[in-house]
Formats: sequence, C-alpha cells, structure tokens
Amino acid sequence: MRPTNKKGGQKFFVSRQQYWGVEEEEGTVVEIAYGGSDYANPDMLGAKWPRLGEGQEFSDPREAVEAAIAVCNAWRAAGCPHAKVAMGSTGGCTIPFEPKTYEECQARAEEIFEKLPKCDECADPLGKDTFSHDLDDDSKFCSEHCAEKNYWNLREQELPELVRKNIQLIL
Ligand SMILES: [Zn+2]
Repeated sequence: MRPTNKKGGQKFFVSRQQYWGVEEEEGTVVEIAYGGSDYANPDMLGAKWPRLGEGQEFSDPREAVEAAIAVCNAWRAAGCPHAKVAMGSTGGCTIPFEPKTYEECQARAEEIFEKLPKCDECADPLGKDTFSHDLDDDSKFCSEHCAEKNYWNLREQELPELVRKNIQLIL
C-alpha cells in the first residue's frame, strides 16, 4: 500500500496588508488570498500574530476567515481601529481586495467550502497534496493517514469474502 501524491485542492492564505495606492481607511486589511501565499498581494506586512494564523495557509476557508478575524481584532486593539478583513483572488497579479464585514466573509467562506473537493474518508477539504491508494485509484484523501484508514477498511470488508472462498476451497 502506497499513498501517492496527486494534485489537490485550494489553499487560503492570511496576511496583513497595507495596500499601496489605496486610501488608508480602505487599504488596511487582513487579507485572505485564494491559492495560497503565492497569490497574496505584494504589500504584505511582517507577521505580528502568527499564533492567530497570520502568515499561514489554510485548506478550510472557514478557518482562514476565523483566523483573519482574530488577527483583525488584535490589530484593532493594538491601535489600528480601521483595520478590516478582505478576501479574494489575485490570480498572481496585484489586485487590492475590497473590505467586507466579518459576517460577509463568513458567509462567503461557507459558500466556497461547500464547493471544495473533500477527502473521501474524513470529508475535510483537500489541501495541495492529496493521497490515494491501490484499491481505489479514483478516491482522494487529505492525508496519508486517511488513505491508510480507508485502505484497511476496504480490506476488512473484503476479508469475509476471501475467507468464504478459502473455506469453499478446503471443503
Ligand atoms: Zn481526510
């Protein structure tokens, strides 16, 4: 049994940004970039709250939004009252995202989550690396752990069948 890496799902990257050329009131944001850190805008500030999720990639957009909100609250409390949350996709270019309310971001994250490809074992969204196993090449798993668990479950289902066949052979 050998889980194999396959092309996987989406990543969501949380960073603080001071958008260049955007009015400070609108351009001071905690950004959630679809596609991961490669797709964040270039005016990233140094990570101040990495433990809240700043500078991290998430495979679940809902977790990314909760992290961004936590970072935004910390930033506001640290003397930046107009910090906002914004989410979007740069496609590799520079595109300042439009700030949204916390509720709007949470609703959007739910929508995105519904459409993400999920692990066939635990139903978590797939990350960049996915795994499969020899018994079912079409299924995709979020981790080696899930691929193995699924593999052994399938093997166990097959076992009574194998045992029956062997008994028939013996008889
Ligand atoms: Zn899984």
